[in-house]
Amino acid sequence: MPYLVREHLFIGNIGNAAEILQNGSEEITHILSILSSASISFFSQWRNGLTIPAKEIRKVYVGGSGSEDDLVDSPKSPLSPKKLLYSLEYAGKDLKLVRMAAPLRDMESEDLLDYLDVCLDFIDESRKEGSVLVHCFAGVSRSAAIITAYLMRTEQLSQEGDSYNRGESIDSSKFGADPGLPTEVSEVESSLDKGLVSTPAYRCKKCRRAVALQENVVDHMPGEGETSFEWHKRRSGNPFNKGVEIECSSIFVEPLHWMTAVEEGALEGKLSCVHCEARLGYFNWSGIQCSCGSWITPAFQLHKSRVDISAV
Ligand SMILES: [Zn+2]
Ligand SMILES: [Zn+2]
Repeated sequence: MPYLVREHLFIGNIGNAAEILQNGSEEITHILSILSSASISFFSQWRNGLTIPAKEIRKVYVGGSGSEDDLVDSPKSPLSPKKLLYSLEYAGKDLKLVRMAAPLRDMESEDLLDYLDVCLDFIDESRKEGSVLVHCFAGVSRSAAIITAYLMRTEQLSQEGDSYNRGESIDSSKFGADPGLPTEVSEVESSLDKGLVSTPAYRCKKCRRAVALQENVVDHMPGEGETSFEWHKRRSGNPFNKGVEIECSSIFVEPLHWMTAVEEGALEGKLSCVHCEARLGYFNWSGIQCSCGSWITPAFQLHKSRVDISAV
């Protein structure tokens, strides 16, 4: 079942979207699809034999010189540098649903703003006319990022959101506590005194400074990302590997207070150990793809090869 986030606003996965497109819904009138392909046929690739009727309303492209003239409603030619920004169509049972599909891709920050704007406007309009389901493949990172951006815009958190985009200093009060600071250590120690189970900590391999606690880790489903369809990219060369789980080479955490580059408002950059400056990973507000194929957005990534896990 899709999850109700706000009145008339649902989040879900591709299965929820397929169910609604196939059988209709009493409540949901609009669908925003964030998938690696905007095409409705993506659903039949996902589940063999599933066909969903659709009738195009319009397609909008972005790219080229970036001027207004580049926004055209014509099919993408193979020579064109333009990229599909979104497609809009009537879809599903009796063509009753309005579906906007914004293909996910490696997003440069300029593109990301266009992309976010159309998605957020669509959510806004849809909620006035009915109810909207925002879905990606697994119903986790991408759709959650879009909904977070939407709530930031609509619920007076927009200043903070804008400053991410402008690269200005951001409000770091919502960052997770730095597990390497003494106050935090004593808190952990006092919880140990109370006989609570210790949480494992990730430490810089070089200097042993604590950089994240298990509770800071943002879990993702390995290979459940939309791009897991591109298995041939990652698993080429060994046909016997197809069914094998790809191990994640990184962990992803929430933004933490030691991440000075993040606090300074950069959109992306290196994450270095605050004590010995060893490179630990990378962050990007527009997301990073894990080695397993999943996209994490926003992403604060620590390479497993650069950190050790240990009891606190
Ligand atoms: Zn992974
Ligand atoms: Zn270090």
